[in-house]
Amino acid sequence: MTESQTDVPAYADLRDALAKLCANYPGEYWRKLDRDMSYPTEFVDELTDAGWLSILIPETYGGSGLPLSAAAAVMEEMHAQGCNGGACHAQMYTMGTLLRHGSDKQKQTYLPKIASGELRLQAFGVTEPTSGTDTGALKTTAVRDGDEFVINGQKIWTSRAEHSDLMLLLARTTPLSADMKKTHGLSVILVDMQKAKNNGLTIRPIRTMMNHATTEVFFDDLRVPVENLIGEEGKGFKYILTGMNAERILIAAECIGDAKWFIEKTTAYAKERNVFGRPIGQNQGIQFPLAKTYANMRAAELMVKEALRRYELGENPGEEANIAKMLAADASFEAANVCVQTHGGFGFAEEYDIERKFRETRLYQVAPISTNLILSYISEHVLGLPRSY
Ligand SMILES: Cc1cc2nc3c(=O)[nH]c(=O)nc-3n(C[C@H](O)[C@H](O)[C@H](O)COP(=O)(O)OP(=O)(O)OC[C@H]3O[C@@H](n4cnc5c(N)ncnc54)[C@H](O)[C@@H]3O)c2cc1C
Repeated sequence: MTESQTDVPAYADLRDALAKLCANYPGEYWRKLDRDMSYPTEFVDELTDAGWLSILIPETYGGSGLPLSAAAAVMEEMHAQGCNGGACHAQMYTMGTLLRHGSDKQKQTYLPKIASGELRLQAFGVTEPTSGTDTGALKTTAVRDGDEFVINGQKIWTSRAEHSDLMLLLARTTPLSADMKKTHGLSVILVDMQKAKNNGLTIRPIRTMMNHATTEVFFDDLRVPVENLIGEEGKGFKYILTGMNAERILIAAECIGDAKWFIEKTTAYAKERNVFGRPIGQNQGIQFPLAKTYANMRAAELMVKEALRRYELGENPGEEANIAKMLAADASFEAANVCVQTHGGFGFAEEYDIERKFRETRLYQVAPISTNLILSYISEHVLGLPRSY
């Protein structure tokens, strides 16, 4: 496959090194986890020990201090090799909120331990069952009582909560009043999950169509020190928003990796599978959907690179990050669908890994942001159309 040429480095050495690590985790490894719905502990441990998950943490705090494009190359390559970053990608970027808005003391306390893997910051508690995408309507409250917050409420889809030491939580600290914007009065609080478990925090796993270690979490008078507040009280929504472009770009890179995996698998099979005495790939009915998905993947890949280029120039590329995420998620799911179709019945067989990857990549149409909400962002913020909600 051709690589897109832009100002963004190709990171060939980094990709080679990661591909070697991923080779230790072939399809059979992921298939077994998928069957048991269990967490890829060995994979995540090896990535952590080798420093892959701390590449965005500045060197002063023990990370590698690499730019977002390096992290995108890591996530893309991981997925292109058939692995899945869903189990650990949050360790890479959730710390961004702490890095940008935390106090010096908080950064000194947590970042070196996150960089070394001693502390896992894998859980991100924003979504709630009743408010959904309407984050300002969330109901979890954190009420001050002396030098503690008392937290009550519920989060849903809090992924990796069972495999994390810390959770970045968004909760309402100022009750909503009629004269207030509903995104005001929310705060980001770092929750020590090990202390919280059985002391006001309950975690319940949710079984999903793919293996994603996601959960619902319940807060029942959970007490957290006020010193765990990140930044200023009431400004949490803004802090979470500042990290969203990076998250969307990295997820888009994962989708590009998935699309490349599907396209490679499909192409190889189309060449080798003979029906009616010739390779199925000789039929344009097989060639054209594959060629189209390749073209769509390349276009999406360029948009990811454009988003990265602007991000690294210090811009806040909401338009490019959102478009990149949407196009890449569409490209990966289209590639998944073409892969199943080209494999005929074998596309449904577990041992080919296609049906599993198909289920895994379907998620990105919905999370971390659904396609409709991206279209809505483009309509309102790029095209200047009236807000629809
Ligand atoms: C496996 C998984 C892991 C996740 N991990 C996390 C996590 O770690 N932390 C976390 O906080 N969240 C997480 N999420 C939540 C995820 O971000 C949300 O599911 C996603 O943002 C959609 O929100 P929702 O499910 O509440 O859908 P809703 O907001 O209920 O929306 C349902 C549908 O309606 C559409 N819709 C809603 N409003 C509009 C509108 N105004 N115009 C047009 N269409 C609209 C949406 O696009 C969507 O298709 C995860 C979700 C999943 C499934």
